[in-house]
Amino acid sequence: MVQYSHPEIARKKLVERILPKAGVRDVRILAAFAAVPRHLFVEEAFQSRAYEDTSLPIGFGQTISQPSTLAAILQVLELSEKDRVLEIGGGSGYQTALLAHLAQRVFSMERVAPLSKLAWRRLDRLGLSNVALRIGDGTYGWPEQGPFEAIVVSAMSPRVPDYLIAQLRVGGRMVIPLGDSRSQRLVKVIRRPSGVDRVDLAACQFVPLIGRFGWEKKSPAREGETGGMDS
Ligand code: SAH
Repeated sequence: MVQYSHPEIARKKLVERILPKAGVRDVRILAAFAAVPRHLFVEEAFQSRAYEDTSLPIGFGQTISQPSTLAAILQVLELSEKDRVLEIGGGSGYQTALLAHLAQRVFSMERVAPLSKLAWRRLDRLGLSNVALRIGDGTYGWPEQGPFEAIVVSAMSPRVPDYLIAQLRVGGRMVIPLGDSRSQRLVKVIRRPSGVDRVDLAACQFVPLIGRFGWEKKSPAREGETGGMDS
């Protein structure tokens, strides 16, 4: 295996220059980025680019998000050390590791078994013991472990799955990319005593959420399905 020679220096630059320049000021979030070696979560051929502010392939046609996007998501999730978080689309496990530094427990679901197994090995190697992984369709959520203070969906959905809203505590926050193959928006959903509030955050680009309450096929080209929800 080719060793990437000075990952710490590149990581320091990401934390001290690139992320602050992109507007990330929260010291807890910056500390999480400093603590998690992103180069261990990407395909070996891309390790030397791991600390650039760019998305990268993680295998199986999936990608790891760019650090500034992840930081913005973590910021709007407003996590505290007491929070239990549900992550849908754990992928490489990188965001899972960041969440593990910011919350009390992380429950992470991934539909592609080999990706989840790889993620598990990495998280175990980093000694992150407050994480549980499950292989399966995350559009059903993980009801046995809910309700959650925060839910983060890392794949683009045509709608907010009702099962996920039901597993969000009142006052809880969810971030989810909504849209179709033509356009997507990152949306924050806040559970209220009756119903939900929705805040539009930004344009974004995520791989499709494939599952019972997401996209049913690999190409989410259906028309007129954008953003439907129970409101
Ligand atoms: N946050 C991840 C990014 C993963 S990309 C990281 O840091 O690496 C999105 C992931 O969502 C992919 O791994 C994909 O397999 C997964 N995914 C898509 N639909 C899913 C579903 N219904 N349930 C669980 N995972 C899903």
